Amino acid sequence: MTKHTMRLSLLAVLSISSLIVGVAYAQNQDDAEKLLEQANQHLISGEYKVAIKIYDDILEITPNNISTLQMKGIAQSNLDEHTGSLKQFFKVLQYKSDDIISLVGLGVGFGNLGEYRESITYFEKALAEEPDSVVINNYWDFANAVITKYPYTPTEKPKDPRYSWAAPIPEWIRPVAGWWSAGDISDAEFKSAMEFLLDNKIIQIPPTEMQSQPEKQIPQWVRDNAGMWADRQVADDMFLVAIHHLVEQRVLSILVEPTKSQEDLDYEFYLFERYLRDISNNISKEKRYIEYPNPSRDVIKKFLRDYVKWNLEAATTASTTFPSPTYVLEDGVYIVNYKVFINDQPTNLPLDHVSTLGNSFSFWTGQDLTVNDLPARIEFVVTNQKHEANVWVTWVVRDLCSDELQKKAERAGIEPCKPDQILGHAHLGKGIVEVTLGDYNCDGSFQLYDVKSVESIMTHELGHSIGLQHSDNPTNIMYPTIDQSYAYCLLS
Ligand SMILES: [Zn+2]
Repeated sequence: MTKHTMRLSLLAVLSISSLIVGVAYAQNQDDAEKLLEQANQHLISGEYKVAIKIYDDILEITPNNISTLQMKGIAQSNLDEHTGSLKQFFKVLQYKSDDIISLVGLGVGFGNLGEYRESITYFEKALAEEPDSVVINNYWDFANAVITKYPYTPTEKPKDPRYSWAAPIPEWIRPVAGWWSAGDISDAEFKSAMEFLLDNKIIQIPPTEMQSQPEKQIPQWVRDNAGMWADRQVADDMFLVAIHHLVEQRVLSILVEPTKSQEDLDYEFYLFERYLRDISNNISKEKRYIEYPNPSRDVIKKFLRDYVKWNLEAATTASTTFPSPTYVLEDGVYIVNYKVFINDQPTNLPLDHVSTLGNSFSFWTGQDLTVNDLPARIEFVVTNQKHEANVWVTWVVRDLCSDELQKKAERAGIEPCKPDQILGHAHLGKGIVEVTLGDYNCDGSFQLYDVKSVESIMTHELGHSIGLQHSDNPTNIMYPTIDQSYAYCLLS
């Protein structure tokens, strides 16, 4: 995904930002790039308003600069300026219809307004590009869960008069669309029927920004739209929106590819703004209950409020006060028995880390270990009695030290983090295991790690708690740093 390019550009930010303090006006492309780096630095420090001022300066010089629009969209989203944020991402898509950050950004933005169905169409467009992305799949899961939990009336989109059709669309198309939606006829059969309609101008769609590469998968919302139109649940133009998407994605090939003029772009943007205004009106009229797609902020708010609950360190003085694990020698093998107390997960955390803890247990149970030169096996038993537990697992929030972060700091001339502040920490042999749930390094706001990262952190910490030291081997789970990835951050 765009993961790596984005990371690299953020690295570049840190490397030269110190040289360009105090640039007031940008005259050319070079200045624009320097300003962008400066603004991004503010963004990852969480100074969104300062960053936005600079993004606006850049957009004065290069109004369609894609990275600037993306970053401004992210900054506005983090400030809860959802409609503003949506406009930036929409502009990017006008020029680059397969831009992943903007597709996900639109999905998140519509989710933040409670327009979950619209949100899903964007997540599905993004998934068609990056089916394995953890971030996009997390958002897609969210949108599908919330839409069944809180039914709502979707805001109708303003009609785009540039969709036109010989009224009515020939009746024979309806069953074709229905069969295709249900999977009863092949994509190829459906395509040739649609291409016939387009080439003969029986249906017409607005000018289109064609994507350079054909899409690999047809998103579900396109099939659903076709199916709903076949059943007369939605109007003709909703069907054409789906066809339009297939043309844009080069799933359908048409004889004459219409190109967009500046007027077309302006008109599209005008329609989009009207749509956003209608949504805002509906939100206040309906008193719509909205659940935000990215739970990170809720988690950190509640976490900080109940800080004492997770900060088990305060409750005890030292690991020496913990009972030592028991062991037996069976046929020349030490069986070491650990009793583990697991603190509750912070509330509103949709990722289930308590069950992945089971994977960390199995990992260590499956390792060949030695104690006093004899083979040893570790067994874990979960207990809800703190006093008898050898290990307490709890959840914390702090900046992890990764190789990447160290390099960034070095380039910026800041003192690098130390690898042992790293993954939270565990007292050797027994005591408290602190598992880090997220940090502020992705986009300046607190962002949760994905389940896999937290599992690696847990396994590492549990390794310490059974007495293992760090390893020099970067592929070993006991290596002192980890390159974490995020569950919801758009820049990951
Ligand atoms: Zn460690």
